[in-house]
Amino acid sequence: MGITVVKREGKSFKDKLFLPGIATGMATTLKHFVKNIKDVEGLKTTQYPEVQPTDITDRYRGVHRLTKHEDDSEKCVACYMCATACPAECIFIEAEERFDGYDEKRPKEFKIDLLECVFCGYCVEACPCDAIRMDTGIFSFIGGTREEFVLDKKALMANERSKDFSND
Ligand code: SF4
Ligand code: SF4
Repeated sequence: MGITVVKREGKSFKDKLFLPGIATGMATTLKHFVKNIKDVEGLKTTQYPEVQPTDITDRYRGVHRLTKHEDDSEKCVACYMCATACPAECIFIEAEERFDGYDEKRPKEFKIDLLECVFCGYCVEACPCDAIRMDTGIFSFIGGTREEFVLDKKALMANERSKDFSND
């Protein structure tokens, strides 16, 4: 059948002892440790969260916001497209009738569970009204309870676009 038998390596007594391999690995670790201690400024690693990233571009996806009309009412028309597109199923919308002339419906409640969210941006892409965006520039979100990670409509509408993001 043309089967090729590949010879197994590591059968010698030295290989089975593992100690030479461990010593070689530790020597490499120690070499880099000493080199980095001597030149901390030259480290490629960002000391997050003490040092925040400075290379954030418009393509970064942060915590969501619901965009607003000029009179501060929500652009969202409660069409459920974002919730349908969401792979994490972490968007909860409760619709109600709308009487301000913008559309027929609005979200009575709109919640996103950030603990479930995978920040894929599908909700933003699915929205036909540009009513949800992830350009707040909020990338570190801290909370003490699970409930604090569930953003409601009020919180989502209070979020603003980051000044670091360009207008489009
Ligand atoms: S970013 Fe992705 S996972 Fe998060 S709410 Fe939007 S669609 Fe769902
Ligand atoms: S945010 Fe956009 S996609 Fe989601 S319900 Fe509102 S209008 Fe529809």
